Amino acid sequence: MDFTLSEDEAAFRAKVREFAETEIRPIVPKLEKTEEFHWETVKKMAELGLFGLIFSKKYGGLELGYIYYAIAVEEISRVCGSHGITVASHNSLCSNHINIAGTEEQKLKYLTPLAKGDKLGAWALTEPNAGSDAGATQTTAVLDSDEWVINGTKQFITQGSVAEIYVVIASTDKQKKQKGISAFIVEKGTPGFRPGQLEHKLGLKISDTSELIFEDCRVPEENMLGEKDNAFYDVMKILDGGRISIGAMALGLGQGALDEAIKYVKVRRQFGKPIGKFQAIQWHLANMATEIEAARLLIYRAAYLANKKSVKYTKESAMAKLYASEVGMRATRLAVQILGGLGYTKRAVVERHMRDVKLCEIGEGTSEIQRLVIARLLGI
Ligand SMILES: Cc1cc2nc3c(=O)[nH]c(=O)nc-3n(C[C@H](O)[C@H](O)[C@H](O)COP(=O)(O)OP(=O)(O)OC[C@H]3O[C@@H](n4cnc5c(N)ncnc54)[C@H](O)[C@@H]3O)c2cc1C
Repeated sequence: MDFTLSEDEAAFRAKVREFAETEIRPIVPKLEKTEEFHWETVKKMAELGLFGLIFSKKYGGLELGYIYYAIAVEEISRVCGSHGITVASHNSLCSNHINIAGTEEQKLKYLTPLAKGDKLGAWALTEPNAGSDAGATQTTAVLDSDEWVINGTKQFITQGSVAEIYVVIASTDKQKKQKGISAFIVEKGTPGFRPGQLEHKLGLKISDTSELIFEDCRVPEENMLGEKDNAFYDVMKILDGGRISIGAMALGLGQGALDEAIKYVKVRRQFGKPIGKFQAIQWHLANMATEIEAARLLIYRAAYLANKKSVKYTKESAMAKLYASEVGMRATRLAVQILGGLGYTKRAVVERHMRDVKLCEIGEGTSEIQRLVIARLLGI
């Protein structure tokens, strides 16, 4: 058992950290105000290969696997959660669904531009009446000669209004409930499909989140992704990988908050000394650092198992996501506390991190759902 990163992994971490510090940190405050999705940085992240880390070279990826992927999401999120979720959702959800379930033609046509970062992807599962109960999807797809006709509304979809390739989950047999669910690839501009209302959120303000509306949207029969009626099984596999990235996002936000707090306690003086000399503050920082390290280990273990491909890692990724997101929430909240009044203002990075990390306890299965998954796998 080796708990250290390899030289290449450590060099990759340093490269992504430098990129995030120089290319992302300076632009975030202005973009947060305008809630503007930033294509220029997305293009630069694509040039760095961040949209193809887990995909085969055959499809334009870097084939570096989940440890590199977790490192990338952590380092980007350490500086900005919005850019972190762009990397996370593009890779883990839309692209990986095509990677796992796509035919060779689908992978060449759709995964290749996604893995190279030439196009952005979005993954549409959640609906107004189907959130945690994803199997209750009401969007329908009906075969009409050689085309699928999709009708329904999706909500809270990351990259919903900016993506060019969408994976959409729809019911193909209502009677069979979750055993009658299929997945479809839908391209931007397909008649009958349009992004709906944009969400204005508590955090992740630079990330695009929107509704998707399908009104007699017709896609070719060959755009079905995976087997008919069997997509729910693939969705569960996609979420196993996705939860590693949401965990890594929370980890990065927690680490970013800890780093800010450590810097601050050395320079802020009260009662004649730096506040870092007070034991109460030291205990907060020690707890934050310990929990963050434990979260990192859980994430790397899940990533290690994901790299093996042949083993199931549902329990490990649910544990990593559950623990890291709650640690991220605690760490950012304590960082705000340590920065006092300043922590409550927009001048402090930790204020943004605290708002951003809340999503990690909700997206890709809430903390309550993670506990249900883990309990089920404990045989309860
Ligand atoms: C910023 C953002 C980005 C997102 N991006 C995407 C995306 O790209 N694609 C996508 O498909 N979805 C996306 N989502 C949706 C997200 O995955 C859902 O919001 C999440 O799964 C919860 O569903 P819900 O909001 O409908 O909450 P609900 O399912 O209505 O849950 C409400 C509350 O009830 C609890 N609850 C529900 N069922 C149970 C149960 N059985 N036991 C105990 N408690 C329960 C939940 O834990 C929660 O606290 C995104 C959401 C946000 C906010």
